[in-house]
This record gives sequence, structure tokens and C-alpha cells, in this order.
Amino acid sequence: MLRKVVLFLAVCAFVFSSGFANFAKAKTVVKVGVDTTFPPFEMEEYGKVVGFDVDMVNAISKVEGFKVEWHTMDFQGLIPALQTGTIQMAVAGMTITPQRAKVVYFSKPYYHSGLSILVKKGSSVKDLADLKGKTVAVKLGTTADIMLSKMKGIKLERFTNINDAYNQLQNSGAQAVVFDNPVNLNYQRTHKNVQVVGKLLTGENYGIAVSKKDPKLLKIVNDGLEKILKNGTYLKIYRKYFGDNDAGLITK
Ligand code: GLN
Repeated sequence: MLRKVVLFLAVCAFVFSSGFANFAKAKTVVKVGVDTTFPPFEMEEYGKVVGFDVDMVNAISKVEGFKVEWHTMDFQGLIPALQTGTIQMAVAGMTITPQRAKVVYFSKPYYHSGLSILVKKGSSVKDLADLKGKTVAVKLGTTADIMLSKMKGIKLERFTNINDAYNQLQNSGAQAVVFDNPVNLNYQRTHKNVQVVGKLLTGENYGIAVSKKDPKLLKIVNDGLEKILKNGTYLKIYRKYFGDNDAGLITK
């Protein structure tokens, strides 16, 4: 009888401990918001979220030991979703700005960027001053929208999806698109009738946004970013998407 009881207890202990071990091993899941209309940082391919930002966050999650659950949404929806807690983190080529930093945390910069002007080849528009009196297409709520909204004499057309802004340029409904230069360059690569003109209009840094409710997660993200910058993973991912164009590269 005693032997049976001991055996029973031993089995119970085994079941509980292995159950506990499994629980401990189960990784924390972090809900990450992503805007899949920002190639080559985020896009959707065959129903999968891919791109530079996606590889980078996956690499961070690997060194820090958490699991990522991707939540695709419009760029405009990301900060509100962080505030309500629908997501804990957002990666979307999001420019670090003082206004946004009031409502979300930002990681250390992970990419140097800036805005540029995209026009049809042969256009008379060569720089910012030439946009006066023209119709310009932008993506709603982005830094391009914010910057051009402050300028007088430009007719702005705002689109939720940047592809609609590019189409507007193609249809001659707009004479220019102002948007993040790496995305404009990506579009130019595949559409030979357009080109980026003039100098960059701004200097911007992209950061991973984290909910203000989660300062611990911000620490983890920054720690992971530092680790992948040091161990060469960041550089490998950078080269995969941007080749030898070092304009956006962060080194530390
Ligand atoms: N970098 C721009 C911004 O933060 C655009 C980002 C995006 O469209 N995903 O406003």
C-alpha cells in the first residue's frame, strides 16, 4: 500500500513538474503592430508579413526569447492601438518625433531616413519650392503629411495606402508624391517612368514604438537591438534589403 502511495505521489510530482517546466518554457507572446504598405520595411507576400523591419524584430525576439504575434493595421491605427493595449509594440518605419514620443516610447534609432520628392520623368518639379501651386499626394498621418500640411500653396491629397498616392501620380491626378526616400527609391526601381528629384527634405530616424504601459518591454527591445548590432545580424539583414547603399545604416 505504502509503495503504491509513494508511486502515486512520484507520478503526480513528475506530471506537475513537467507541466510546470513546459509552462516556464512557453515563451511570452508580444503583439506587434505592423503596416504592410511600407516596402521594403514591411510588406505582405503570399499572406506573410515580410521585410527589413520584420526580420529585425524577429532577430530581436530570438536573442531576447519572446514570440511575436503580428497584427497588420493602417499606419494611422498603430499609435491608438498602442495606447489602448491592442498591441504592445509597433514597427512600421515609424519616424521618431517629439509629438509621438509624448504618447509612446521609442527604441533607439534603427534606420536613418528622410523625405524625398518623386515625380514623373520630365517633370518641371525639381525641388520643394516647385511644389507651390501643385497637387501633391501623401500618405495620411505620416511625416510627409505633417510637413506639407504646414506649407501654403500646395494642394494635398491624402491616402491611407501609399500605392494609391503613387497611382495618383501615374494618372496625373497629382504632380508629385512626397514620402520616405527608401520607399520612393523602391518604387522608382520598379517603375521606370518616375524619379526622385532634389535633396532629402528632412533627416529622420526610425524607431520601434512601445506602449507607455510597458517600460520593461522597451528595455528588452533596446537590449535586443544592441545585441543584433554587435553580433552582425543587423548588418546581414540590412545588406539583404538595401545592398551596399549605406544611407540608412546604423552602426551602434
Ligand atoms: N516614416 C513615416 C512616418 O513615420 C512613414 C511611416 C509609414 O508610412 N509606415 O510618418
